[in-house]
Amino acid sequence: MSAPRRILLKISGEGFAREGETGLDTERVKALAGQLLQLTEEGVQVACVIGGGNILRGKQSGSLGINRATGDYMGMLATVINGLALSDALESNGLHARVMSAIDVHKVCEPFIRRRAIRHLEKGRVVVLVGGLGNPYFTTDTAAAQRAIELDCDHLLKATMVDGVYNKDPKQHDDAVLLPEVSFQQVLEQRLQVMDQTAFTLCREHNLPIVVFDMNARDGLLCAARGQKIGTLITNPS
Ligand code: UDP
Repeated sequence: MSAPRRILLKISGEGFAREGETGLDTERVKALAGQLLQLTEEGVQVACVIGGGNILRGKQSGSLGINRATGDYMGMLATVINGLALSDALESNGLHARVMSAIDVHKVCEPFIRRRAIRHLEKGRVVVLVGGLGNPYFTTDTAAAQRAIELDCDHLLKATMVDGVYNKDPKQHDDAVLLPEVSFQQVLEQRLQVMDQTAFTLCREHNLPIVVFDMNARDGLLCAARGQKIGTLITNPS
C-alpha cells in the first residue's frame, strides 16, 4: 500500500475514554493529538470523524426511556463534545484545527461546508468533523465513509479496539485468525465484521480502501496513515 496523501480517520467514542469506561480521558485525547501532530508534520492531510459512544449512543435510548430520534440527536451532540476536546488538545500542541459540524452548533464550531473543509485541509489544518451526518438513524461510521468520499480522501482509517478483521469472532473462537488483507467481496461473502452495512457499501461502491487497526497499538495511527502494514486493509483487487 502506498502512503496516503489525504486521510479520513474515524475515531470511535471509545478512543476518548479510559478503557472500559465512559466519559472523557484527557490523557488519551492528548496522546491522540500528539500522533496527529506528527502526521501533519509529515505532510499528511487529516480529516477526523468523531464518534460519541463514550457518552451516548442512540440505540441506548430505549432502555433510558428516551425517544430514538432524540437519543440519536443526543449521540450527535456527544460527538461535538469529543470533537471540541480533540481540537483543544490539537491546538495546545501548536496545530491548527477546525471543528465542523453537521448539526447547527454555531457558537462552538463551523458548519460543515465541503469546499471550506477542503481548503482547511489544503492549508494543513486538521479538520474535526462532528455531528455525524446530522440525521438520526445513522452512525458515525457512515458519516466517515460519506465524508471520506466527498473530501476525496485516499483511505478511510478506522481506529478501533481490535487489531483488525478476523475470519471469525475472536471473542468466541480461540482459533480466529487476523486477516492482513481482504477484498470487499470477501467481506461480503464471509460476512466479516468491518463496520456497519451502509458505511461498508458506500466504501465498496466508491472503491475507497479501508484500514481497520487498533487505536491502542504503539504508533498505530502513524503506521496506518503512512501506508505501513498494520491491522487489515480492505480493497477492491485491481
Ligand atoms: N448519530 C446519528 N447520526 C449520525 C451519526 C451519529 O444519529 O449521522 C448518533 C447515533 O445515535 C450514534 C451516536 O450519534 O449512536 C454516536 O455515534 P456512534 O455510535 O457512531 O459513535 P461511536 O460508536 O463511533 O463511538
